Amino acid sequence: MTTEAAPPPETLRAPLVVEFPFTRSLGPVQSAFLTGLRERTVLGVRTEAGEVLVPPVEYDPLTAAELRELVEVGVTGTVTTWAWNPEPRTGQPLTTPFAWVLVRLDGADTALLHALDAPGPEAVRTGLRVRIRWAAERSGAITDIACFEPYDSDPVVEPGAHDGRFTDPVTGIVAAARLDYTYSPGRAQTRYLHALAERRTVGERCPSCSKVYVPPRGACPTCGVATTDQVEVGPRGTVTTYCIVNIKAKNLDIEVPYVYAHIALDGAGLALHGRIAGIPYDEVRMGLRVEPVWSEDGRYPDHYRPTGEPDADYDTYKELL
Ligand SMILES: [Zn+2]
Repeated sequence: MTTEAAPPPETLRAPLVVEFPFTRSLGPVQSAFLTGLRERTVLGVRTEAGEVLVPPVEYDPLTAAELRELVEVGVTGTVTTWAWNPEPRTGQPLTTPFAWVLVRLDGADTALLHALDAPGPEAVRTGLRVRIRWAAERSGAITDIACFEPYDSDPVVEPGAHDGRFTDPVTGIVAAARLDYTYSPGRAQTRYLHALAERRTVGERCPSCSKVYVPPRGACPTCGVATTDQVEVGPRGTVTTYCIVNIKAKNLDIEVPYVYAHIALDGAGLALHGRIAGIPYDEVRMGLRVEPVWSEDGRYPDHYRPTGEPDADYDTYKELL
């Protein structure tokens, strides 16, 4: 008997954003550096060997000695290397094509990474003289330097002493770590997501070890062979392990405490993650039988709730912990 292969599913794509903004405090050196930028002053730090590092660091990279001798360097400098960026992305220093440059500011011995505003790559070269273009509004951040721009001038060699003292120094910053990207889930997960929209959960069986993966990964991570045999599992399942979440996550409108669990759907060879609701959080237990409650748009299980069945026997899920 032959069966017709299912037509390849329409490949899904979706924009995803991973964001992890965090607050960090600044020590005396970074505080002076960023406060200096706010005041249109660039400070470096002198190492034990007498070199001037810009941006400054708090400990000598060679001797690990604490460094505190701040010096003021020039706002002009020399490009030491560069790369052209033809398609600036959201959040980059300039919205028009620009060069990423390492600039050794006059009086410094190391180079600073920043953006150079230039009409095209033909206008950029190693050795190019540049100067800082300050941002109109400055708050004590590296973005207080809007960018660099070409500027013909003679280098200033000697850095000046600076006590690093400013009125109202900057003591902390919010570092915004963010990644925007387009995700394409591939063949196996595309089938899985299409099936979810029909309120079915479809895994894939490994032809070698017979384990059913949900969500499917397209290959068995144990045997290293492609999985093509589709198997519908669930919709009911068993809580194998769980944790109680006590911290409210930003942008997540769920009251704490709540329970997040490993759930082995009936017929699946490993557990997936899901939130448990419809039962007091302190009554959730291993072996609890649950079923999915679908999201309002019907595209995915929003959470799982108890089915009312007797708890599953430990032996039925002990291999899935
Ligand atoms: Zn396998």
